[in-house]
Amino acid sequence: MIRLKRPECPQKLALEKAELTEVYKLKKSSVWKRTFITNPLQKMSNDKCCFCECKLGEEGKYMQVEHFHPKDVYEDEVVDWNNLLPICMRCNTHKGSHDTYVNEIIDPTVRNPPDHLYLSKYRLKGKDDLGELTVRILDLNDTEEISVPRFKIANAVVDKIEEALDLVELYNPETGNALEKARIVRKVRSILKQCTSKYVYSAVVATVVLSDHLYDELKSVLVNKDIWTSDMQTFEDIAKTLKLDIKP
Ligand SMILES: [Zn+2]
Repeated sequence: MIRLKRPECPQKLALEKAELTEVYKLKKSSVWKRTFITNPLQKMSNDKCCFCECKLGEEGKYMQVEHFHPKDVYEDEVVDWNNLLPICMRCNTHKGSHDTYVNEIIDPTVRNPPDHLYLSKYRLKGKDDLGELTVRILDLNDTEEISVPRFKIANAVVDKIEEALDLVELYNPETGNALEKARIVRKVRSILKQCTSKYVYSAVVATVVLSDHLYDELKSVLVNKDIWTSDMQTFEDIAKTLKLDIKP
């Protein structure tokens, strides 16, 4: 889970909010299913579920609109912009009508997930009651649906670090050619990009990469051979904001 920045309320929603709320109260219809609501929500999270960071839009994972404070209980918030989040079906099913006013969980547009979560053996854990309840309610270590895909992706990125390290250790800045250098740059960029918010499971991938000693080694060789670039640094800086503390 990563921090999300909520954009301004869409103008059309601001205009129609009162009417849509009334319609919902009368008919209980899905008044939030409007592209002027769903599109900005999906953009806000880079097409990912706001909780588990799986990719939305892939098979069986179309976006649903999450009412952070449950709409059945808090009808006035049914299309309140600050109450809406993009969610996958799995997380939505787990959250159900959990009352977040009574037992708060992490709203990633309000709280910074790394303040409440840490990673241990590829599993998300709570640093405090808020984090613990969030992991439990949403079942964020669900083996089949989340843990395995998250592990596979993070593991594949770790493999790439080793490959990049092998390449860069062989590279001689005096005699190496531009193609070799470009190949290294491409590989390192692709590792770092996967640690940024556009990519699936970015919090876990950023955590695993930045706490891998081979990554430190890779960076130091890249710096020494003058291959480390400012955009690599920018990606790394973003990754640092997403990464969680790690405990054995
Ligand atoms: Zn999810």
